[in-house]
Amino acid sequence: MKVVFSETQRRHDPTFFLSSGTQRPNPEVPRRCDILLQAALGAGLTQVAPDDAGLVPVAAVHKPDYIHFLRHIHARWCEIDGASAEVIPNIHPDRRNGAYPASAVGQAGYHMADTACPISAGTYEAALASAHTAYHAAGLVLGGERAAYALCRPPGHHAFADLAGGFCFFNNSGIAAQALRSRYDRIAILDVDLHHGNGTQGMFYGRSDIFTVSVHADPIRFYPFFWGHPDERGEGEGLGYNLNLPLPRKTGDEGFLAALDIALDRIAAFAPGALVVALGLDAFEGDPFQELTVTTKGFARIASRIASLGLPMAIVQEGGYVCDALGDNLASFLGGL
Ligand SMILES: [Zn+2]
Repeated sequence: MKVVFSETQRRHDPTFFLSSGTQRPNPEVPRRCDILLQAALGAGLTQVAPDDAGLVPVAAVHKPDYIHFLRHIHARWCEIDGASAEVIPNIHPDRRNGAYPASAVGQAGYHMADTACPISAGTYEAALASAHTAYHAAGLVLGGERAAYALCRPPGHHAFADLAGGFCFFNNSGIAAQALRSRYDRIAILDVDLHHGNGTQGMFYGRSDIFTVSVHADPIRFYPFFWGHPDERGEGEGLGYNLNLPLPRKTGDEGFLAALDIALDRIAAFAPGALVVALGLDAFEGDPFQELTVTTKGFARIASRIASLGLPMAIVQEGGYVCDALGDNLASFLGGL
């Protein structure tokens, strides 16, 4: 199997984010990709760099005003007297009724869901390289590989069509799924990150050709709070094509695998041509988030059950933060396939 990785992704190096109103060190750091790359190579994967696909992959799922915003906002922000080094919004609209503002501050509020997606000088380039990484992995699957691993960072599953959030800017899993649609009529996205894949859900909420499934910590008391509940099933043509399986706090391997089995049954019934796995490793018991208690061996069992679907798959890295076992968890997953 190949691991797709772009060095350009290191250019996003945020210094902080706001958590419960406090400035804290941002855990979504370039060191994550050093650890994950070493683990992937140690597991026997072959490293390849993604092609530069320009804006084609992101324009397929993101809105033009949002892409324009991400590309230019940091330079515009730096012109504001006394502005912070990284773009962090301080105002948010009621999006159902709000106008689209002309100002950099207003647009930051419009296009950024929260204060956990600071934009620095290298963010746009890194996010675009991350999108290219996912797109390239999808291309490998389209080219006949059974599976490919996209080592994406920044991650993507909290990014909507026109909204950044939760360390995410371009929705890499959505980009891979849309690319796979060029051959397959139906694609499933299975998100096993600790956090609900709200951006991915939102992106495909009205569509029946991309089935979005997420197993995650219950958002009733955890990020992303406003999405990820079981009654969110899709809308219009997409009704019935979104499945949320929230888990109680501290759920371990057995509880996670039970929910995963429900997810895999529903995906099998959908009969997709290919699968995108949004692979977060932050459900781990020793992850800094400390919300679920999946073990290192548990990731191999998760992978093994996913592989039993027998589908070609693009595996897209989402969350999973620096801790002693981060690399072991990826190796365990890859070994379980
Ligand atoms: Zn996560």
